[in-house]
Amino acid sequence: MTDNANKVKMLILGSGPAGLAAALYAARAELAPVVLTGTQLGGQAALTFTIENYPGFPDGVGGAQLGELFQRQAEHFGTRVEFDTANKVDLSARPFKVTTDVGEYEAETLIVTTGASPIHLNVPGEDTLLGRGVSYCATCDGAFFKEKKVIVVGGGDSALEEAIFITRYASSVTIIHRREEFRAGAILQKRAKDHPKIQFVLNTVVTEVVGKDKMEAARLKNVATGEETLLDADGIFIFVGHTPNTQLFEGQLKMDSHGYIETDMLMQTSVAGVFAAGEAADPHFRQVVTSAGMGAAAAIQATRFLEAESG
Ligand SMILES: Cc1cc2nc3c(=O)[nH]c(=O)nc-3n(C[C@H](O)[C@H](O)[C@H](O)COP(=O)(O)OP(=O)(O)OC[C@H]3O[C@@H](n4cnc5c(N)ncnc54)[C@H](O)[C@@H]3O)c2cc1C
Repeated sequence: MTDNANKVKMLILGSGPAGLAAALYAARAELAPVVLTGTQLGGQAALTFTIENYPGFPDGVGGAQLGELFQRQAEHFGTRVEFDTANKVDLSARPFKVTTDVGEYEAETLIVTTGASPIHLNVPGEDTLLGRGVSYCATCDGAFFKEKKVIVVGGGDSALEEAIFITRYASSVTIIHRREEFRAGAILQKRAKDHPKIQFVLNTVVTEVVGKDKMEAARLKNVATGEETLLDADGIFIFVGHTPNTQLFEGQLKMDSHGYIETDMLMQTSVAGVFAAGEAADPHFRQVVTSAGMGAAAAIQATRFLEAESG
C-alpha cells in the first residue's frame, strides 16, 4: 500500500546534475518533487575532483561540492530528497508505480535521470582485483596509490582528466589507449602530454589484470603488431566509456540499440507523463552542464504537461 506521503506529483529517479536540476525547476513550480538518490548521491559528477567547465565557477569547483550545492538549492525550494533506489517500475497506467528498496511511490509524472555507469574491459583479473588495484574512480581511490605505478586506460576527456589528477599521488601514470588519436579535448591532451609523470602506450589494449591478492601488472597487446608485453603496475584506472542505467525501463520505454532512452526535443519519452534527461537519454554530450540543462527542460515540460491536464 502506498503511503499518502508517497503519492507525488513528480518523482525524479536520480540525484546527478540532471535529477537535481529537474528538482530545482519542479520545486520552484511548487510541485513538491521527490528525488530518489540511488546509490550515488550527486551522480558521476560527485566522483570527479574538480569540474572546470561548469559555468559560474571560473576557478573550478569540486565535483562533490557542486552536487551539494545543487541539492541545497533544490531542497531550499521544497524538494524532498530520499536516500533510496528504484528497483521496479510500472509505467502501464498513471499514476506510475515505482517500487524502491524501502517502499512504493505513485507518481503523476516521472523524470528518469538514472545516468550511466562505467563500462568494464571484461578481461581476466578485472573483477577479482576490483578494489585491490582495479578502480573506475580516481577521486575515490587515487590517494591509495601514493608513490605507486598506475595505469589509466582510455582516450577520452575522463581518462586524461583523471590521469592528470592521479599524478598528485602516483610516481608514474601510463595511459594505455587502443588508438593513435585521442577523443579528449586539445587542452587536456596538451596538459597530459606535457606532464613529466605521464607516459603513453598507444595502439594497445589491456588483455589481463595480473595479480594474486593485489594487482601486480597488466598484460598488454599491441593491436597493430599483436605483440604481448607485461607492464608492472600497482593500480589500473579504467575510463573506456559508459553504459546507460536504463535496464529498469526495458520493454516499457523506447530505447536505442545501446539502451539510451529515446526522447523528443521536449524530453518526452514514448510514455506520456514520463520524461528523461541527462546521460540516461544522451549518448552525445555527456557533460554536467548539458545534463543539468536537459533536467531543467524535462521539469519545465512535465510542469506544462500537468498544467494542461488540470486545464
Ligand atoms: C570521472 C569523471 C569525470 C567527469 N568530469 C566531468 C567534467 O569535468 N565536466 C563535465 O561537465 N562532466 C564531467 N563528467 C561527466 C558528468 O559527470 C556527467 O555527464 C553527469 O554527471 C551526468 O549527469 P546525470 O544526472 O545524467 O547522471 P549521473 O551523474 O550518472 O547520475 C545518475 C544518478 O542516478 C542515480 N540512479 C541510478 N539508478 C537509479 C535507480 N534505479 N533509482 C534511483 N536513482 C538511480 C544515481 O545514484 C545517480 O545519482 C565526468 C564523469 C566522470 C565519470
